[in-house]
Amino acid sequence: MMQLSYEQVVGKIKENSALSNEQIDSSINAKLKQFAGLVSREGAAHILANELGIKLATQDIAKLKIKDIMVGMQNLEVLTKVLAVFPVRQFNSNGRQGQVGSAVLGDETGTIRAVFWNEQANKLEFLSKGDVLKLKGVYVKENRNSTLELHFNNRSMMVANPPGESVEAQEFRRENPRRRINEIKDDDRFVEVYGTVTDVYDLRFYEVCGRCGKRAKPQDAQFVCPEHGAVSVNYSYVLNLFLDDGTASVRTVFFRQNAEAFLNKTSEEILAFREAPEAFEQLKNDSLGRFIRINARVNKNEMFNRVELIANEVEDAKPADVQPVLNSSQPSAVDGQANAENAQQAAVEENKIEDSSEEQLK
Ligand SMILES: [Zn+2]
Repeated sequence: MMQLSYEQVVGKIKENSALSNEQIDSSINAKLKQFAGLVSREGAAHILANELGIKLATQDIAKLKIKDIMVGMQNLEVLTKVLAVFPVRQFNSNGRQGQVGSAVLGDETGTIRAVFWNEQANKLEFLSKGDVLKLKGVYVKENRNSTLELHFNNRSMMVANPPGESVEAQEFRRENPRRRINEIKDDDRFVEVYGTVTDVYDLRFYEVCGRCGKRAKPQDAQFVCPEHGAVSVNYSYVLNLFLDDGTASVRTVFFRQNAEAFLNKTSEEILAFREAPEAFEQLKNDSLGRFIRINARVNKNEMFNRVELIANEVEDAKPADVQPVLNSSQPSAVDGQANAENAQQAAVEENKIEDSSEEQLK
């Protein structure tokens, strides 16, 4: 498959749909708006074509660089380097049992996560950081953070260290500069913070589209998804707490998976608190005094003229884990790719929850 230009994609849409030029144009504009500047005009046209079921790819296998990978692509061939392999996790939810693992793959143009479900996850055992990995017949999916991922089907193949192939890729590092809370600066974007939980607020639930998981807004006695219109909704949740490290305290926000990780509860268990909020009291009290490490995005709260943190990783820690921070005012190296990925995820996350952050403390 050759990557089609914007004009070629629009041409295909015109040929294969009943849409007028104006309708195509406004649909592409709507996509651009929906993805908040995270896709190019060309990318938006590809997404529209894919949604309309218009085939852009021929049966030929596409050899692509990571930066050119777009949602909906199928049957790709990618030559990558393994930058990180994450442990395989067993799950058992809703009676569904299985395992999932993932790896971060890179080339000279970027990084992408590859997800391995069930028996495919066994393949991760044979992969190490630094391996050259050729993937064939993989497809692209958007996860619920709107980040692209590579997935495998029965016909997908992978070859580790094919002879004669090499890949240049940057190191993948997710380490953010560690900060004491009173040292967090307005221009810090991502930080690592250790601290003690001093206040925990009630969980707040909000409606999300039952089809895509994006925030759904009330309108005329129903809920409306920006993409899917009036929809039946599911609930998502956000937890707010204060973290104190002896230098200062900072409001910290945990959305969805991060709330699950902090509370060590499944999504089902947390959703049960919506019906029975009093049952959350015990868990809230148990959380007080916990010492944790978080990676977080720094958010400047204009209304209160203060900084707050949006956690994107959390784990329990011990005060002894905190090594003295030398030159803590010097920002440590932050990998550009990881940071860009964080930022992209953050932008989408923020877009989904919008104005919720002011309301939490009520
Ligand atoms: Zn939706």
